[in-house]
Amino acid sequence: MSLWSRRKFFLTSLAGTAVAGSTKLFGAAPATLGVSLPAAQGKRPLIISSANGVNALHKGMDILKAGGDTLDAVIAAVTVVEDDPNDDSVGYGGLPNEEGEVELDASCMHGPTYRAGSVAGVRRIKNVAKLAQTVMQRTNHVMLVGDGARRFAVAEGFPEENLLTEHSRKIWLAWKASTSFNWRPGIDSPEWKEKMSSIFQGTPEDQALLARAMQVIKDPPTGTIPCMAVDAKGDISATTTTSGLSWKIPGRVGDSPIIGAGCCVDNEVGAAGSTGKGEENIKISGGHTIVEMMRQGKSPTDACLEALSRIARHYKNDKKKLGTFHIYFYALNKDGVHGAASLWLNGYEEGKRAKYAVHDGAESKLVDCATYFDSVGGDQ
Ligand code: ASP
Repeated sequence: MSLWSRRKFFLTSLAGTAVAGSTKLFGAAPATLGVSLPAAQGKRPLIISSANGVNALHKGMDILKAGGDTLDAVIAAVTVVEDDPNDDSVGYGGLPNEEGEVELDASCMHGPTYRAGSVAGVRRIKNVAKLAQTVMQRTNHVMLVGDGARRFAVAEGFPEENLLTEHSRKIWLAWKASTSFNWRPGIDSPEWKEKMSSIFQGTPEDQALLARAMQVIKDPPTGTIPCMAVDAKGDISATTTTSGLSWKIPGRVGDSPIIGAGCCVDNEVGAAGSTGKGEENIKISGGHTIVEMMRQGKSPTDACLEALSRIARHYKNDKKKLGTFHIYFYALNKDGVHGAASLWLNGYEEGKRAKYAVHDGAESKLVDCATYFDSVGGDQ
């Protein structure tokens, strides 16, 4: 299908919904871009996440198949990613804030009991999705932040540890060196070089690290794992966990711990989550927007595209401005139909579509995201 006809297909399907009808009440609906995909078949139980969860979803699926709770299932899956030192976007080994301290955010919602828990700006505690669940289960609050959240974790028996791996520490130092002469050997040093590569030794490992450092300095990664599950009965839960934006100002909180932005569940409807530039999601309450769109009859994919269109409208669809960031939404509904959409075709590689992970009981696989702009972001 050509871009135009795919667009037309999306607009036509949009026009058929109650949502499009209701926007007429408030004047002509602005043109919405977006490339939808053929509707997925619903299946239960089902668990989905961002692409970085593809090797972890089986943990959650095992729990769902054994008749376990949906929240336990999603927490079990994301804990695998939080514990992985090679994933530098989540939990242990996450890229730190500008001062070299890893600060984590997480949230969760339990559909069957309509409860929520959340933590933000947490230092030295690795499993913050579990911590958000513990806030939900063992306090009369929904959200704990900063040192209060850390002290609560310690009181509840969570181990305290340094979350900065050697890998993340060196990349952070490379970032420091790239931003300030003061963090590089001086001109009187035998190690002086014009370029920041002088802080690496030149071993093959260092070269690989340097390549990664250059990549994340050029395009600071935003990484996270949102995970949502529906069981055989139709009960739904979700969690989102992240180390947030790398090199952030200490204390910065993104969308991941914000109930209704980075994570949202309504047990009568479905669930939604997000990755990417959290500030843009917070401004549209993306998770809540998507759940409400699904309540009004949109498919998960089209609901995600609608959330993206609201972000794009904030910038009058200006591709130059929108090209400065990436954002992705993920959703599933009560029937086990799932979808996801990315603002750009793909963050980094020409021609490659962004993906998300789905485990339908048989296997865990990566499937295509729909896209709002059918081109690569960041190069507009
Ligand atoms: N959404 C997260 C945040 O803004 C980051 C990410 O998804 O990478 O903190």
